[in-house]
Amino acid sequence: MIAAEPHTRHTAALSGLLQPAWQQELAHAVRDPLELLALLGLTPGQIAPGETAESLQAAAAGFALRVPRSYVARMRPGDPADPLLRQVLPVGAETLTVPGFGPDPLQEGAARAVPGLLHKYQGRALLVTTGACAVHCRYCFRRHYDYEADQETEASRRWSTAITHIAGDASIEEVILSGGDPLSLGNARLAQLLLQIRDIPHVRRVRIHTRTPVVLPSRVDAGLIAALQPVRAQMAIVIHANHPAELDDPTLAALRQLGAACTALLNQSVLLAGINDDAQVLGLLSQRLFEAGVLPYYLHQLDAVAGAAHHGVEDARARQIHAQLAASLPGYLVPRLVREIPGAPGKTPIL
Ligand SMILES: *Cc1c(COP(=O)(O)O)cnc(C)c1O
Ligand code: SF4
Repeated sequence: MIAAEPHTRHTAALSGLLQPAWQQELAHAVRDPLELLALLGLTPGQIAPGETAESLQAAAAGFALRVPRSYVARMRPGDPADPLLRQVLPVGAETLTVPGFGPDPLQEGAARAVPGLLHKYQGRALLVTTGACAVHCRYCFRRHYDYEADQETEASRRWSTAITHIAGDASIEEVILSGGDPLSLGNARLAQLLLQIRDIPHVRRVRIHTRTPVVLPSRVDAGLIAALQPVRAQMAIVIHANHPAELDDPTLAALRQLGAACTALLNQSVLLAGINDDAQVLGLLSQRLFEAGVLPYYLHQLDAVAGAAHHGVEDARARQIHAQLAASLPGYLVPRLVREIPGAPGKTPIL
């Protein structure tokens, strides 16, 4: 190793201390429901009749609140029904027990091939890279996922076990990085993982499922674009936006950069009562996504996860909204209306 010049050494020490901008932003994310309401000039009583500081805190104790401040800045102050607020605010209804809604709605526990690897779709393996997300979505189907079971081995060992499993199974043509959110990983670890996957001859495609570019656009930095470069030709990225108000100008700019760094940039949404169960809202979402170079992919019916029942939309209403969308947009801006049925080899269309 060549000894560094004193000023270079000083700079290196500094950059070791300084986190990238997105990590600093995450460190300052809002984690307290009452702080979130105060930022928007709201009180618990305005959220729902009978809602109190205690009921919000009880829901947050079951699944913590986490939201970046740049996402809060896209909410309308003083509006208790704001569609972005409603995606992240813990509410008392989450603590109710609802028949049919359980902790592992997709029975993923049964699909764990080796720690950190779910083999539940035909030809595709799903790598649970991390339990961390930039935001906590109240409707998340993995809100009760046992990430600990994936952490039982030290992270690098766990990945090498998963990579070995993929390398040994020639039926796996596509590796999907999932989580949590794979873009919670730093650029160096992500780059290393992508190169390991690229070097497996039978893997033709790599996919990243991530909500981070939408909720924390600063995550799309030069280091991320560089990490994606070696796999650009094989890479599909599926982002997760639910409402056009999420797509402000910095987010659109980040998505355009991301689109240039992969082969396909797609969006999936979850149909959510009181948030986006409206053909006009979803139509605007599709159009805004297109402006950023993103094509709509899936519109999901909610998975029956405990704590999220109040976000559910009836199938009949879902079909009606979808028909309205199809009647008003070109086909390539209409997402497929689907649900995930445990044990099925892929998504099931709702016809
Ligand atoms: C549906 C889904 C997949 C894979 O399904 P495809 O039909 O191959 O797109 C992967 N991850 C998540 C989170 C999904 O919802
Ligand atoms: S970003 Fe995805 S995995 Fe994370 S909480 Fe939201 S829905 Fe769940």
